[in-house]
Amino acid sequence: MVLAGGIGGARFLRGLKSAVPDADVTVIGNTGDDIHLFGLKVCPDLDTVMYTLGGGIHEGQGWGRADETFAVKEELAAYGVGPDWFGLGDRDFATHIVRTQMMSAGYPLSAVTEALCTRWQPGVRLLPMTDDRVETHVLIDTADLGESSQAGGEDGGKDSRKAIHFQEYWVRLRASVDAHAVVPVGAESAKPAPGVLDAIAEADVVLFPPSNPVVSVGTILAVPGIREAIADAGVPVVGLSPIVGGAPVSGMADKVLSAVGVEATAAAVAQHYGSGLLDGWLVDTVDADSTQAVEDAGIRCRAVPLMMTDTEATAAMAREALALAEEVRA
Ligand code: GDP
Ligand code: CA
Repeated sequence: MVLAGGIGGARFLRGLKSAVPDADVTVIGNTGDDIHLFGLKVCPDLDTVMYTLGGGIHEGQGWGRADETFAVKEELAAYGVGPDWFGLGDRDFATHIVRTQMMSAGYPLSAVTEALCTRWQPGVRLLPMTDDRVETHVLIDTADLGESSQAGGEDGGKDSRKAIHFQEYWVRLRASVDAHAVVPVGAESAKPAPGVLDAIAEADVVLFPPSNPVVSVGTILAVPGIREAIADAGVPVVGLSPIVGGAPVSGMADKVLSAVGVEATAAAVAQHYGSGLLDGWLVDTVDADSTQAVEDAGIRCRAVPLMMTDTEATAAMAREALALAEEVRA
C-alpha cells in the first residue's frame, strides 16, 4: 500500500514494481490537486501515476504525455480563452474528456479511474483518496502578488490575504510568494473512496514515497479515517524523505512545509509525520547525521541513497524501505 502524489510517488512506484514485480500494490492517490479547466475535470496526480506506470509519461518532464502536441491549447489561446499557464496537451485532453464525460454520466471518480486504467494497465490498483471534491487552497498575501491594493478597503488595503487554488500557487506563481496556510478544502467532510479503508486494513506494509509531505501525503491523510486506519492497521509504516540535503530534490516543497511550520529537512519531515504514524524513515546518505534525531523521535531511521536517477536506483530504495519495514515488524 502506497500513498502517492504525482512525480515523486509515480517514480517511486516504478522502482517498487521493479523490486517486487509480483507484489499486489494498492496506491491511494492524492486528488487535492484536481482542478476544473475548460469544463474538464483534471486529476494531475492520478494521471501522473497512471501515465508513468502505463508507459505514457513524458519522461523528462515527469508529468503529461510523451510525444505531446498542443494544438487545442493554441486554438483556445487564439480565442483568448485561458488559463494559459496550465500545460494541457492534446493527448492529455482526451483523458480529461473521457473522465469528465463519465463523471457527467454519474460515475464516481474511483470508477472512472479504474476505467482509465484498463487502457494504461499500470500494474497497481490505483484508488483516488476520495470520490468527494477536495481542493487544496493556499493562503497568500495579496500584496505579494504586486496587485494594486484598494486603498480605503475594509482593511485599508493592507494585510489582505486570499486563498488561491493549489495549481495557481504551484504552476502559475511557481510558489514564488510565501504560503501562509495550506487548506484541503472539503477534506473534513470527504469520505475515503470505496476500497481505501479495506486496502489499508489488508496491507502488509504502508509506504510513503518521497512525495510532498504537505500537499500530497498530507492531503490524503486529511481525509477523515485514512490516518486513523493507517495508525491502527498494526503493520509497518515506512517513509522516504523527499528532502535531501535540506532542500526538496525537485519542486518547491519547502514553501508549503514552511506554511505548516515545518523545516525543510529530512528529520523535520519525519517528526512532522510523527511516531504515532511512522515506524521507519529513510533519509539520503548526505543526511546521515540526522538519523539520530529521527530515532530520538521514536522512528527507526536509516541513511541510504535516495536519488531516483533510474529504475534500478529507485528499486534499491524500495528494497531498503521494505527491509526497514521487516526490521520494525520484527
Ligand atoms: P507532485 O505531485 O508531482 O509534486 O509529486 P509528489 O508529491 O509525488 O512528489 C514531489 C516530491 O518528490 C518533491 O518534494 C521532491 O523533492 C521529491 N522527489 C523528486 N525526485 C526525487 C528523488 O529522486 N529522490 C527523492 N528523495 N525525492 C524526490
Ligand atoms: Ca501533486
